[in-house]
Amino acid sequence: MYCNKCKAEYIEGIEICPNCGKALVEKQHITEDEVVEYRELITVATTTNYFLVPLAKSILESEDITHFIKGEHLMNMPRFMIPIEIQVVKEDEELARELLKDLDL
Ligand SMILES: [Zn+2]
Repeated sequence: MYCNKCKAEYIEGIEICPNCGKALVEKQHITEDEVVEYRELITVATTTNYFLVPLAKSILESEDITHFIKGEHLMNMPRFMIPIEIQVVKEDEELARELLKDLDL
């Protein structure tokens, strides 16, 4: 059992958190804040030019921008040419777009 408020886990059978009195839930639920944080990724580029992706990554890395390549594994199957998304956290969106705009992704 789990208390969403205290982020504490309790053994099965306990229904009320001994710490705060809140009803415990079955398992850890992701709080709204964490969901928002998780979704704060912004796609700054979508490309099928797979050969440009490592270049884009190194540019972002050089600026210490945390980035994610959605569909990176697809690059091993270039014949499918499925668009790959380059994502960054919202705070870095503007800088990332600026850095990548000359790449012609
Ligand atoms: Zn609690």
